[in-house]
Amino acid sequence: MEKDFDYYNTLLVRSVGSKTGPVAPTVVPSAAFGYEDAQEAEGIFAGEVNKPLYARVGNPTNAKLESIVAKMEGGFGAIATSSGMGALSMVTTAFLKAGDEVLCIGGFFGGTYTLVNETLKRFGVSNSFCDVDDFEHIEAKLASGVKMVLMESVGNPSLRLPDLTRIANLCNQYETLLVVDNTATPLLLRPLEMGADIVVHSSTKNMSGHSAALGGIAVFRAVKEEGEKLRSEKYADIHKVLDKMGHKAFIPICKKRAIRDMGMTANAFGSFLTMLGLETLSLRVERVNKSVAKVAQILEEKLPEAITVNHPSLPDSEDYARYQLDFPNGCGPLLTLDAGTPERAFALLNNLKGVTLTANIGDNRTLALHMQSTIYSDFAPQDRKFLGVTEGLIRVSIGLEDPETIAQDFLQAAEAAL
Ligand SMILES: *Cc1c(COP(=O)(O)O)cnc(C)c1O
Repeated sequence: MEKDFDYYNTLLVRSVGSKTGPVAPTVVPSAAFGYEDAQEAEGIFAGEVNKPLYARVGNPTNAKLESIVAKMEGGFGAIATSSGMGALSMVTTAFLKAGDEVLCIGGFFGGTYTLVNETLKRFGVSNSFCDVDDFEHIEAKLASGVKMVLMESVGNPSLRLPDLTRIANLCNQYETLLVVDNTATPLLLRPLEMGADIVVHSSTKNMSGHSAALGGIAVFRAVKEEGEKLRSEKYADIHKVLDKMGHKAFIPICKKRAIRDMGMTANAFGSFLTMLGLETLSLRVERVNKSVAKVAQILEEKLPEAITVNHPSLPDSEDYARYQLDFPNGCGPLLTLDAGTPERAFALLNNLKGVTLTANIGDNRTLALHMQSTIYSDFAPQDRKFLGVTEGLIRVSIGLEDPETIAQDFLQAAEAAL
């Protein structure tokens, strides 16, 4: 069956709801779970009996969310986490150790950038960052034995679009784990099918839509019987888990090497709220992606010259060709405006009447924020430059409102600001 918006509408409402008994997902808030007898306890701890152990390592409400998102992403299994950064910390700390190196391709969300460039670095994991199309650097680093490649499906806020298939093929050739942050493009891109090994999401964003639940999730492929890249010598420290757990191994690797010891676990109520968002994700993604292209087009046509708009759907965008080829249904809720100077950006933002100024994206409401003075305020100028954060850059996340009304608000604010 073609995985279009109709497919996902059916999949999501039917998997979130139950046909018999309580239709809405049940919230199981208990932190602890009683075992039948000592033997059952032993079996649960050994991973042989599939029952809840203790809420830090899993709970039935999280499990339901995990099974839905695994299906949605075409994965084998998933682990829900406390936030998107929780998912990224889980995946990186589960697979990396001091002395390893990470290759980061393209633009990055501020928290991911500092996770890699400050926190992981403090623990002895080195890194390099490169442009989405710098294949010379990408191949050289893969050949030199980097342990993990990290990238976002769409650069936030750079809006650069990577050639995911080409990067995934290289990662497979050099037996290197590829982690793709798909936060901005759920249902629009299926990185696991394109050759990625792990997909992470901040479910706080598009998946929920309602800004009512902080959460994250990582989705994994199954471990292969033959030609498995995790069998490479680079990953020798997890071979024991592969031998014991076989095709399921991604889950215990993350649970035992990150979740158990660091506790970046999702809570049941948050997972419940995320599932309420998931029911309508397909409707919202379809609507929002049509609106983004429309708003970008109106703004490109009507904004005064001093303020420019960037979105890959616009023919003068650097990634227009890739957008046409790889993102037929859109590339997520973001577009950016460049007001040229911080003063003009502030004036524009302060004149918006209906748009919410906040650091979130993927909300049901349209949001906007000046980048340099907020998320990137403590970044070095050269890091901002690399990430595409210019002085006057405003990131806009388009919501469910009438696209004409959204565009009109930006047009009147631009006029008032100039
Ligand atoms: C927001 C975001 C994150 C972090 O998610 P939180 O839920 O805020 O921790 C990671 N990646 C991307 C692309 C994001 O937009």
